[in-house]
Amino acid sequence: MNAASCQMCGRLFMKQGRSPYCPSCSEVDYQNFLKVRDFIREPENKSTNIGILVEATGVSELDITRYIHEGRLIIKDNPELLIGCVRCGQPTNEGKVCSNCQRDMQKELSSLQESLTKSSSARAYRLD
Ligand SMILES: [Zn+2]
Ligand SMILES: [Zn+2]
Repeated sequence: MNAASCQMCGRLFMKQGRSPYCPSCSEVDYQNFLKVRDFIREPENKSTNIGILVEATGVSELDITRYIHEGRLIIKDNPELLIGCVRCGQPTNEGKVCSNCQRDMQKELSSLQESLTKSSSARAYRLD
């Protein structure tokens, strides 16, 4: 375990897991998460965007983005709620990476696996 200073209150705490917050701020953070989640789940808020969401919940855009990146907040049902893809920066409501990048990464992964298979299979020639 590592000591870290809480990103919300600045107090030193023993870091557990990935939370940047001390236990008491984590609780606040969790309540914020619930607020955001409940808000976007309301049918009348289906077309909310990040600006409206920040204003309505009082939760910062940074925190909302983090909930999405952590996979805690699913925004697929909210087509106007877009955050920048961590890979290409394009606005997306897919989560951490946009669907284009997901496809690219999938491709890269399979070509990586392919080259691994090629290089590990004895005496195979690479024809690329
Ligand atoms: Zn704290
Ligand atoms: Zn992308």
